[in-house]
Amino acid sequence: MNKTPISKIILEGREFLVKRDDLFDPYLSGNKYRKLHTLLKTPKEHYNKIISYGGTQSNAMLAIAALAKQKGWVFEYYTKPLSKKQKEQEEGNYPIALSLGMQHYELELESYKVYVQALRLNLDPMCVVVDQGGADRMAQEGVAVLAQEIQEESLEFEAIATPSGTGTTALYLALAFPQYKVYTTAAIGDKGYLEEQMSALSSIPSNLVILEPQKKYHFAKPYKELYEFYKHLKYGGIEFDLLYAPLLWKLLMEQTKEKILYIHSGGVSGNVSMEPRYKAKFPELFSL
Ligand SMILES: *Cc1c(COP(=O)(O)O)cnc(C)c1O
Repeated sequence: MNKTPISKIILEGREFLVKRDDLFDPYLSGNKYRKLHTLLKTPKEHYNKIISYGGTQSNAMLAIAALAKQKGWVFEYYTKPLSKKQKEQEEGNYPIALSLGMQHYELELESYKVYVQALRLNLDPMCVVVDQGGADRMAQEGVAVLAQEIQEESLEFEAIATPSGTGTTALYLALAFPQYKVYTTAAIGDKGYLEEQMSALSSIPSNLVILEPQKKYHFAKPYKELYEFYKHLKYGGIEFDLLYAPLLWKLLMEQTKEKILYIHSGGVSGNVSMEPRYKAKFPELFSL
């Protein structure tokens, strides 16, 4: 796929455009595809190993596993110790990444941080390290390609939106589109935490707008009202991820009015491991 397509979706009578970065590849999808663009373009011979770290639900982990497989590179992934339940997980990103060849190492809690901070010390030149979630300056190049694709379409929209974890994607989008507002929200932590993450990469431009919910939503915890958004969007024809997208959709509906181009951030492959948690907590959402 050269360019990802644009879809329309109507939510409560309001029309949105959606840039379908979820369709690039089932595993290497959404903003992880954009963030890894530079490595995707790198010739195979350049490296033989890619190293990263983080959680086992991570979409970045799965995307790197798919990239490494495609390139024939070894993929080493470091995490904190897993629970028995996490290890035995049969669906979702973790077992898929393992099946793609990921080599997983659990580090002791006490040594995790030090180990991870030292990954780049004396690094073999044939190895490349990608920080947790792909929060790397390298991402700017891939987001610029996304911006280029959007510009070539001559679409009609007044603002852009995409959800944030580390904020890398939203930040680089806002820098690439100074003439538009870029709406985002912090799926992890709060606005202050998100600004801190972004500031580590660049100063935050004024067209980047971080929307804030009235109540605190904890990352990866099931909330009935967020599932409702996921469900409505799915009926509308597009599946979004359950961790990042629903909160931003809720805030866009509550706090914005413009015609929005929403950048699908991918991550749908993780839904099979979130669905059972929703089912357990809110069985009424699943009864007919
Ligand atoms: C990783 C991820 C995000 C967050 O992207 P950042 O660039 O870290 O802000 C958002 N949505 C999905 C589905 C993701 O996988």
